[in-house]
Amino acid sequence: MRYPKIRELIEAIRALIKGPYTSKFPFKPHVPEKRFRGKPEYFKDGCVGCKACAEVCTTGCIEVKDVTDAEPPLRRMELHYDSCIFCGQCQAACITQEGIKLSNKFDLAIFDRSQAIESVEKELALCEACSCVVGAKDHLSWVAKKLGPLAYSSPTSYLSVLKELKLAYLDIEKQEDLTRQDRIKVLCPKCRREVTLNT
Ligand code: SF4
Ligand code: SF4
Repeated sequence: MRYPKIRELIEAIRALIKGPYTSKFPFKPHVPEKRFRGKPEYFKDGCVGCKACAEVCTTGCIEVKDVTDAEPPLRRMELHYDSCIFCGQCQAACITQEGIKLSNKFDLAIFDRSQAIESVEKELALCEACSCVVGAKDHLSWVAKKLGPLAYSSPTSYLSVLKELKLAYLDIEKQEDLTRQDRIKVLCPKCRREVTLNT
């Protein structure tokens, strides 16, 4: 019993001389420590819209909304930070390592929690035959770049590369009957199988 009391006394004297350990927030702005994990934020240029962050999110607070009837069709990632536990898994799993990062923002209280949304939008590529979602255009280009010359084994990949080089365009024209020449189009796996087996 004796030693803890002495330790507390030393701490009290130290606090009197040096000041308290805690910051004076909210009277003075608080600067969090270097590795503090605060509100996750998206970076549009670094994000390719792959959804990996939503799939690994431990609380399921990242919602993916594909708006296929918009012009152009869009994927909107909505992170509801009122349900976020700042675990950092989204940042760790980000395939580009540049799409989402935890900031040092901690003062996040608001009156309407439906407004607690951090979001990013990416343009979608739709299947040219059935109009279902193939993926975000930036994601297709990112995969093609990763594959290098191997990208030329898949029409969806190399069309993405050619589009980047302004040599092709991912135009979406809904088509009912698939012909042999439709193999050189951006297609979903189901239509790709159909065109390969039936034409
Ligand atoms: S920090 Fe964790 S809980 Fe928050 S969005 Fe990322 S993965 Fe989800
Ligand atoms: S690139 Fe990163 S931030 Fe963007 S959707 Fe994929 S995992 Fe999420």
